[in-house]
Amino acid sequence: MTQRFDVIVVGAGAIGTSAARWLAARGRSTLLLERYEVGHARGSSGGPTRVFRLTYDHPDYVRMARRALEEWRVLEDEVGEPLMVTTAGLDIGRAGRSSAEALEAAGERFEYLTVAAVTERWPALRLDPATEVFVQEDGGVCMAERTVLAQGKLAVDLGATLLENTHVLQVVARGDRAEVRTDAETYDAGVVVVTAGPWARPLLLGAGIDVPLEPSLEQVTYFALDDPSPLPTVIDWDVTPPRTPYTVPDPTRPGHFKVALHMSGPPVEADGRSFEPDRERERRVIEYAAGRFAPHVPDGGTETCLYTNTPDENFLFDRIGPIVVGSPCSGHGFKFAPLSGLVLADLAVGREPAIPIDRFAASRFA
Ligand SMILES: Cc1cc2nc3c(=O)[nH]c(=O)nc-3n(C[C@H](O)[C@H](O)[C@H](O)COP(=O)(O)OP(=O)(O)OC[C@H]3O[C@@H](n4cnc5c(N)ncnc54)[C@H](O)[C@@H]3O)c2cc1C
Repeated sequence: MTQRFDVIVVGAGAIGTSAARWLAARGRSTLLLERYEVGHARGSSGGPTRVFRLTYDHPDYVRMARRALEEWRVLEDEVGEPLMVTTAGLDIGRAGRSSAEALEAAGERFEYLTVAAVTERWPALRLDPATEVFVQEDGGVCMAERTVLAQGKLAVDLGATLLENTHVLQVVARGDRAEVRTDAETYDAGVVVVTAGPWARPLLLGAGIDVPLEPSLEQVTYFALDDPSPLPTVIDWDVTPPRTPYTVPDPTRPGHFKVALHMSGPPVEADGRSFEPDRERERRVIEYAAGRFAPHVPDGGTETCLYTNTPDENFLFDRIGPIVVGSPCSGHGFKFAPLSGLVLADLAVGREPAIPIDRFAASRFA
């Protein structure tokens, strides 16, 4: 007999585990289906760290990040471990001014610093004396893999059923309910939340929902300072060619950090993509890090990871009949994970979403 649930969540990355946690907390019978194991690194949520920042070039995102920060603290209290570690965040370069304006418009504090003040606080940074730079003290580091595992465990502790190594082959809307077919079973639910990241597009197409989600093959390179000292997160807006380098320290390993070039990879299919780093992009990152940081050595090589991009780089949060879609990526979705799951749970249970989501509607692609 087909098993019935209130809600089925397809995909247990940062967003699916968060949605399942919120749905279980609201007493909904919730089935969370994951093709691999929770915490794997084949999709978008693998690896140790992600940037958290309030600095965005639109006040709506700044407000959303502020709300997400509250939700990180709630999550940490619930699971009893630090998952978003505040380090402060630096925005370097004149192109960061639009973020400064958005912070101001949203009523957030930040401070322009002299290069001498920056290097006194973070001696490992190397900056030209004329560099324009501001600090936002709430910037920090999301512990990525730990968060996914913690949210998944919390969802199960709250009553969700988790099935790993379960491949969803099809999601089908049937009137006001939906059916999910896996490689082993068929399930029925009042609502299906699709949080399949880079795999979402074909799954949604099968359900009659066509959204332009395009995966790209990104990569990060790891380093360790010869002489460990604290580091903030760093976004370097003015580097040419304009593929913004960003730096993320690992709060659990002093002096260790990673650097990547935002949105620098080619479009790929999520299945069958390469795990081999692009050596030319790796070389550019090594060259950048050599100029920006005190002496350091490679530490852990280069890892690949998938972005799921929308044409306007805004997220996708919507409900179409019995199907809720949630794809907060374009390379900046992790920091919102505890909030994104709440929004998707709101959509699934028919509540007013916790934040305004008009800009994230699927209809904008029509
Ligand atoms: C290199 C890199 C750096 C990033 N840096 C930052 C950053 O600094 N700050 C920031 O905020 N964000 C950052 N991001 C973005 C952020 O990591 C993503 O927005 C977030 O991880 C997206 O999570 P997700 O749950 O949507 O996708 P995923 O983590 O990919 O989860 C989707 C899950 O669905 C499962 N699945 C797919 N299809 C099926 C199926 N048919 N059946 C069952 N299960 C299925 C997959 O196995 C996977 O576990 C970065 C992303 C990358 C790749």
